[in-house]
Amino acid sequence: RGPTLTLARRLNVQQAVDHWGQTFERSGIPEPILSSQYIIAHVLGAKTMESLGSRRLREMLTESQVRRIWELCDKRLSRMPVQYVIEEWDFRDITLRMRPPVFIPRPETEELVGLVLSAQLPAQGAGVTVLEVGCGSGAISLSLLQALPQLQVIAVDRSRDAVGLTRENAHRLGLQDRLEILHMDVFLDAEGLLRGWSPVDFLVSNPPYLFSEDLADLEPEVLEFEDTAALDGGADGLQVIQSILTLAPRLLKDGGEVYLEVEPRHPPMIQRYVEEDAAAGLRYLQTHSDVA
Ligand code: GLN
Repeated sequence: RGPTLTLARRLNVQQAVDHWGQTFERSGIPEPILSSQYIIAHVLGAKTMESLGSRRLREMLTESQVRRIWELCDKRLSRMPVQYVIEEWDFRDITLRMRPPVFIPRPETEELVGLVLSAQLPAQGAGVTVLEVGCGSGAISLSLLQALPQLQVIAVDRSRDAVGLTRENAHRLGLQDRLEILHMDVFLDAEGLLRGWSPVDFLVSNPPYLFSEDLADLEPEVLEFEDTAALDGGADGLQVIQSILTLAPRLLKDGGEVYLEVEPRHPPMIQRYVEEDAAAGLRYLQTHSDVA
């Protein structure tokens, strides 16, 4: 439990930021200062402390602001990820609504989207179709739709929470008309998906790819709040990747492309799931973290 709120005196913004930064730090919360800043900026209606401006740091907090800050910081003290605490997160140029247990998009996936956008595409994505497997909050699909105003996307997830959140985010961003959202397990019901299927130009996914044994090393933020089905790729992390690559030839147009985020150990392991002619087309791009 967090410290109960007994305010002897009123606080300004900077004092609240310092108080919670120190409280988080003492409690071993990762990124204590950032957590405090994100939450307090959010309560004050800003994205970041910087955008709030230095003048407002000396502004006195109202009682209701203090109550809200304490309430949200208590959640962070329970190790809830800051993205779930403030219920939103930025991904490339869009702001997504966040809700547990739907996977929180990571920065490396912004680079995956950048790779897709750097492919040779008709202007505005006219006539281009994308299938995203495992859409989570909709981060990849929605940022592609936002960047390419004529693109069409089909987003699939086996999690009802994920499908619901993608739908909500699509509506909030006004992108729902070019997005078809399906709640299904693509691999359990491949024939269902393929019935009446029009092959797509791109298959994009940030699949679960962690090696199961590595899951135990993750922080409580991940293990206690996020759906680990979005992270656990089985013993060698390749369970879902293998299914995607096996199904891909039937989902894609001739010359279609697959963009996957994988684990750094995966590239040499992936060759064996890919047909010989397609294997020649494999490219791995090491980004700042682990996108390949
Ligand atoms: N990059 C994520 C992490 O390390 C894993 C994402 C995934 O399995 N798709 O938390």
